[in-house]
Amino acid sequence: MKYRSTRGQVKDYTFEEAVMAGLSPDGGLFIPHHIPALPENWRQAWSELSYQQLAVEVLSLYIDESQIPRKDLEDLVTRSYTTFRHSDVTPLAQVKDGLYVLELFHGPTFAFKDVALQFVGNLFEYFLERRNRAEQGGKTHRLTVVGATSGDTGSAAIYGLRNKKNVSVFILHPNGRVSPIQEAQMTTVLDKNVHNLCVKGTFDDCQDIVKNLFGNREFNDKHHLGAVNSINWARILAQTVYYFQAYFLLMRSLKIDPASAEADKIKVDFSVPTGNFGDILAGYYAYRMGLPANKLVVATNENDILYRFFETNAYEKQTLGGGEVKETLAPAMDILVSSNFERLLWYLARDDEKDGGKTEVATHDTTLNEALSDKAGQTVAQWMDELKTKGVFRVADSVVLNARKIFDAAMVTDKDTIKGIKDYQEKHQYVLDPHTSIGVVAADRLTERDALALVPQGSEVMICLATAHPAKFSEAVEMALKDQQDFDFQSQVLPKEFVGLLDKERSVVHVERADPQLVMDVIEKELKVEGVIV
Ligand SMILES: *Cc1c(COP(=O)(O)O)cnc(C)c1O
Repeated sequence: MKYRSTRGQVKDYTFEEAVMAGLSPDGGLFIPHHIPALPENWRQAWSELSYQQLAVEVLSLYIDESQIPRKDLEDLVTRSYTTFRHSDVTPLAQVKDGLYVLELFHGPTFAFKDVALQFVGNLFEYFLERRNRAEQGGKTHRLTVVGATSGDTGSAAIYGLRNKKNVSVFILHPNGRVSPIQEAQMTTVLDKNVHNLCVKGTFDDCQDIVKNLFGNREFNDKHHLGAVNSINWARILAQTVYYFQAYFLLMRSLKIDPASAEADKIKVDFSVPTGNFGDILAGYYAYRMGLPANKLVVATNENDILYRFFETNAYEKQTLGGGEVKETLAPAMDILVSSNFERLLWYLARDDEKDGGKTEVATHDTTLNEALSDKAGQTVAQWMDELKTKGVFRVADSVVLNARKIFDAAMVTDKDTIKGIKDYQEKHQYVLDPHTSIGVVAADRLTERDALALVPQGSEVMICLATAHPAKFSEAVEMALKDQQDFDFQSQVLPKEFVGLLDKERSVVHVERADPQLVMDVIEKELKVEGVIV
């Protein structure tokens, strides 16, 4: 399996090259040459597998044996998911009739990004070690991962990369603008290769510094900068696994044999709290591979560029409020544009090119004519160019109609997010974090809309992806539940891992000004302390 760029200029990267590069040199994102089909008998063959076994089956459809031998892949996957606290890794909880929650927060940092980053950390280490073994001249391949965070990505990256050979990680966070729990999660990791930089400035300042460093040829060549942001293909791939896990766990819960005719009658919808479109994109791949999904619901907060796309055909950066990101109660979804949406656009452009989006190009068509793919690359490059220069691009009706066959969308305000947390605790004794609340509220709203429109519902089941543990976003949760009788945050929500976290020893370097040069100095000084450079 080779990988190509969504902007058409790069066509033949291997899996390793795509993962190590992150972003394609033409500015596009890597996608597989074709979407592999599931084995004929997957429903029987996979139904009793553990999460780890399922992961090996799914991942090996995208990663050739020549890239990672199966035995090594098994080892990587096993190590990546032993850090999870639940034996199902991503367990499924029934919350009410017809509504389930797929809990993606049982990893080290209590949020869904762990599922991908635990794997990506091991993958980086694996590829670097292999390169170093093959190296004759005594050169050591290393990676200096640099990233900015407003909370969630940083801690998941740190936990994914801590203690990995030949990898140093530098995470910049804005001073005083990260929640106390998230700050503590990052800075209490004391491994030698982990460096927290607390920058006097905003999240945008941190992001600008990181961009500046990546654009600095000399610094980049010297330290081999690497990124772990959500555009890395390996993150998307790792996330496809839990859609299959959800399906099998649902069938187990309903006591239905997944290979039976009865299983075909169940329509499974997924509702996904969405920011950069990475989580839900993995669901799209699972669906195109053949997972029987009925609907994928894009649930956004008030940073609603994706919702507006489905409503208006226009992908437009926020114009109200000065074009700034809106700070909401679901900060991990506070974005202006969704970086992974470009990947979906490529598939939509190609379907549209074929027959005006009437049918999807056969997923696993390996002979798939290159002309269609080339044209899709050109279209995406043009859209992205318009977005950059005008802040907006518009697509044809047929494109959105095609997308709407599988996607639906809803926007949820802070007020409704709080109401969702309150309602579900009161009526169903399930405490949602604000991100998950957005997914659940969106799901309920669309189910109600369809019922009013007399859309046949039959045996429809909604699975909402729970992206964070409620204790991680305690401010919103406590705000929502402060008046609830017999609710006690400490005893009912707070996991034991969080007790005493705020008092643990920390390691953090303060950067007094949001200045790239200062940050570069700190990085070099820290690399000396770490013993990486002299
Ligand atoms: C990152 C994140 C999201 C958004 O996921 P995307 O893949 O960016 O759409 C939602 N909830 C939480 C808690 C997250 O950390």
